[in-house]
Amino acid sequence: MEQLLVALDVDTADKALELSEQLAHLAGGFKIGSRLFTSEGPDFVQKMSGRGHRIFLDLKYHDIPNTVADSVRAASDLGVWMLTLHTSGGSKMLTAAKEAAIKTSASPLLVGVTVLTSFDEESLSQLGITRSINQQVEYLATLAAQSGIDGVVASPLEAAQIRSQCGNNFKIVTPGIRLRDTNTVNDDQVRAVGPREALNAGSDYLVVGRPIIAAPNPQAAAAAICSHSEDR
Ligand code: C5P
Repeated sequence: MEQLLVALDVDTADKALELSEQLAHLAGGFKIGSRLFTSEGPDFVQKMSGRGHRIFLDLKYHDIPNTVADSVRAASDLGVWMLTLHTSGGSKMLTAAKEAAIKTSASPLLVGVTVLTSFDEESLSQLGITRSINQQVEYLATLAAQSGIDGVVASPLEAAQIRSQCGNNFKIVTPGIRLRDTNTVNDDQVRAVGPREALNAGSDYLVVGRPIIAAPNPQAAAAAICSHSEDR
């Protein structure tokens, strides 16, 4: 299923390659996060994209505009299809990143992180932000859209609001997906949503990690997510 992005949250390239081989026909792409990238490096990213996989590089760039633009170019050279950056890096950073991306041959999609799900209102107020979490997510999603990046990573519970605010072309990538009618544990995703509900709310891509990669049979788990994503 084109919308399913499997988070390869494993510690070695061998495990990630094995999963990607098992799941290639079921997934629309694979997410490589900071853990795997830190241990296996850019060569591994290039190897995966060279095998024809769509790679979602989740390193959440947040730096001065020039450094982020350089990092976007470097990711593009690895054949990355989509990558994350922090919207709180501000409009200049987001615009510089997008201007860099469109001049590269891979022209990766740029999606912004708004408020990390580990944040609560107290963590925001410690940073001097007086908006509620929802208000801050909406504020940063609008900033991302106005700065010209392609979309945001968001909770499926925020997807409908972001879709109505930011329009149909804006990509919404949602983690926090769980099947409700199985024995799947929610891990630490306290506000998990089913795949069909997330797509109905306006999500373009579903990021799923542990329910697939930690399942006894990852292929069967991915196939179950795909079948629960279909219209019924
Ligand atoms: O294992 P699970 O399905 O919870 O994996 C979700 C993936 O999405 C993980 O790689 C996690 O880092 C990422 N993520 C998240 N919540 C966010 C942003 C990213 O769970 N708000």
